[in-house]
Amino acid sequence: MLRLEACDVDDATAQITLRVQSTQTSAPCPLCATPARRIHSAYGRTLADLPWAQYRVCLQLRVRKWFCRNRACPRRIFTERLPTVAAPWARRTRRLAQRLVALGVALGGRAGVHLGHAWDLAVSRHTLLRGLRRQPLPVLPTPRVLGVDDFALRKRQTYGTILVDLERRHPVALLPERTADTVARWLQEHPGVEVIARDRSSAYAEGARHGASEATQVADRFHGLQHLRDTLDEVFTTHHHALDAVNAAARQQPVPLPDGTLAVPVPPPPTPARAEHQAAQRAAQRQALYEQVWAFHRQGWPVVAIAAQVGRGRRTIERYLHMPTWPGRQHRRHDGRSVLNPYQASLLERWNAGCHTAIHLFRELQLQGYTGSYRRVTAYVSRIRQAQGIPPRRQGRRQTLPVVAEAVSPPLTPRRATWLVLRREEHRTAAEAQQLTQLRAQQAEVAEAIDLVWSKNSCGLARVVFQEPPKPFVTLNGAFTYCVLADRRKEQHVTLALVIPLVMKMHHILRERTAQRPFPKENQP
Ligand SMILES: [Zn+2]
Repeated sequence: MLRLEACDVDDATAQITLRVQSTQTSAPCPLCATPARRIHSAYGRTLADLPWAQYRVCLQLRVRKWFCRNRACPRRIFTERLPTVAAPWARRTRRLAQRLVALGVALGGRAGVHLGHAWDLAVSRHTLLRGLRRQPLPVLPTPRVLGVDDFALRKRQTYGTILVDLERRHPVALLPERTADTVARWLQEHPGVEVIARDRSSAYAEGARHGASEATQVADRFHGLQHLRDTLDEVFTTHHHALDAVNAAARQQPVPLPDGTLAVPVPPPPTPARAEHQAAQRAAQRQALYEQVWAFHRQGWPVVAIAAQVGRGRRTIERYLHMPTWPGRQHRRHDGRSVLNPYQASLLERWNAGCHTAIHLFRELQLQGYTGSYRRVTAYVSRIRQAQGIPPRRQGRRQTLPVVAEAVSPPLTPRRATWLVLRREEHRTAAEAQQLTQLRAQQAEVAEAIDLVWSKNSCGLARVVFQEPPKPFVTLNGAFTYCVLADRRKEQHVTLALVIPLVMKMHHILRERTAQRPFPKENQP
C-alpha cells in the first residue's frame, strides 16, 4: 500500500527519513464507504516510527484527498485512511503507538519514560498515560466469589477499593473510595456475587449488606491471620514482663556447644544513655496519649472522633482501647542485627583460642572481609570480657577462662514472640520451642493466648488456616469461632471474644493483588 520513494540517512542528527507514498488507486469514503476514484489534492504528513539501530526513523508520507462520488453523502472531500499504518491525526505509526502502550502497561508513566529513553523512544509521561487511558477496559464476568479490600493511593491519606475475582484470581475493578456506598453501588450494578471476602471494616460490611444482601460475607485468610497477629502482639505487649523474664533467664543460661560442653553466653549490648533518655520521653508521650484516649472514650466519644481530636489513626486508637491498662515502658531490645554478625563465630573462636587483643582480632576480621568499625569490635570484645568476668581494659591473666558463645535464639520481642507462636510446630527449632515453653510457664494469660491459637477445637484459628492440603473454602458449622483474647476488660484480663462467620480463603489476597494486569491506574504517581 505504501511505496518507498527515497531514503535519507542523516548521520549528524542520527535520523533516517523515509519518503513514502500511498499507492491505492481508490479509497473508501469514511462516511458512506463508497470507493472514490478522483483525487482532489495531496499533502505531506510526518509520522514517527520505531527506531532503527541508533537512528530515529520518521516517515514522510504523501497522502491524498479524494472526492466522494456519492451525491447523497454530506462529505464532499476526504483524506484517505491508512489503518494499518497510523490512526487519523496520529503523529506516530501504529506499531510505535502499540509499543508505547505496552511500555505504559508494564511500567506506568515515569518508569516507562526511563526505559523508553534507554530504547531511544523519546516520550513523555503524559503521552504514556494518555495512551493507557485510551485502551478499552477488558469486559470481565461478574465474579461469584469477590474479594474486597482497600489499597492506598497515598498511604494514610487517600484509599481506594480493589475488587478481586477470587476464583479467577484477577482484579475486576478499582473504586475511588473505600466507603459503603461505593461498594454497594458496584454490587448493585453487578448482581450475582455469592460470597464476599472482606476485611473487618464496618464500611465494607455495610456496603455488602446493602449491595448484595443475599451474599455470604466471609473473612479471608490474610485478614484472619493479620488480626490474630495484631491481637497476639497486643497480648505480648501488655504482658511484656513475661518476655523480659524469659530473656533474663536466657542470659543466665549456659549455651550448649555442638561438642556437648557448655559455654558462657555473650551479654546483650547496653543501650546508650541518650537513646535511653529519648525512649523514656517517647514512652511518657505515649502514656499521656493513652490516658487522653481513654478519657475521651469514657465520655462516650466514638473512635473516629477521638482519632481526629488527638491526630492519630483509627487503628492506634483501637489498639489503645484494647489495652485495659497501660502496658508500661517498652524497653528497647537489641534486635541482634549488626555488620559484625557474620564474623561473630570466627571472632569467638579466636577469642576462645586465646587471642584477646581487640586490634589483632579487628585486623583478622578485616582480612575476612569485615567492613565495620574497630569500635564495634571493641564493644563486642568488652561484652565478651563481661561474660567471662575479666575487668575492662586489662589483660586477662593466663588462667583458664570459660568458653564464650552467642545465645542460640535472639531475645524475645512482642513481634518475635508472635511469629514464634504462629510458626508451625514442625518448623520451630528446638531452641525456639524451648523459648515458647518458657514463655507459657510465665503467666496464665500468656499460656491461654498461645494455646488458643493452636487448640484442637474450632477456636484454633492457626490450625484451620494452615490446614493441609489447603482447601479453597473451609466452613466450620457455617460459623467459624474466631476467638482471640480480647475482652473481659472489667477483670483487667486478656481472654477471648469475637465470633464472626468465616469461610477461610486460602489464597492471600495480597498475592492476587500483585498479579494485577490491565489496571495501570494504580501505577500512577
Ligand atoms: Zn461519502
